[in-house]
Amino acid sequence: MTPTDHELLAHAVAAAREGRAEGGIPIGAALVVDGEVLAVGHNRRVQLGSPILHGETDCLANAGRLPASVYARATMVTTLSPCDMCTGAILLYGIPRVVIGENRTFYGGEDYLRSRGVEVVVLDDAECVRLMTEFIAAEPELWNEDIGEE
Ligand SMILES: [Zn+2]
Repeated sequence: MTPTDHELLAHAVAAAREGRAEGGIPIGAALVVDGEVLAVGHNRRVQLGSPILHGETDCLANAGRLPASVYARATMVTTLSPCDMCTGAILLYGIPRVVIGENRTFYGGEDYLRSRGVEVVVLDDAECVRLMTEFIAAEPELWNEDIGEE
């Protein structure tokens, strides 16, 4: 049976929680191809001191080098609306579908993704909202750093 988008989101949420447990930013992602989770990832700004490993980009890195034909069948599942950097990575590799946990705490490149022909599904998941709301309240400076603000 093909997993539902909510079932797929659970993998990204688990990755986000893992990141938070490590002291990091609770954003996770999963790359899904033909109903199978190829890789998961989570934001590692704090853990690795990395400005470029967001949930989505860490996930892509964990998936390793893939042929374009695989990306062309992929769905990027992410707990939070993708920022401009991750939007660019999704477009670069031609990923045709993005499932987003929530976009209440941050609204990223969804409109641009749609304008480029990507299918964008927003689940408005309460657990994703809670993870980010609690994190932003606890560490507002760290969150601003992650989205390039002060
Ligand atoms: Zn990002």
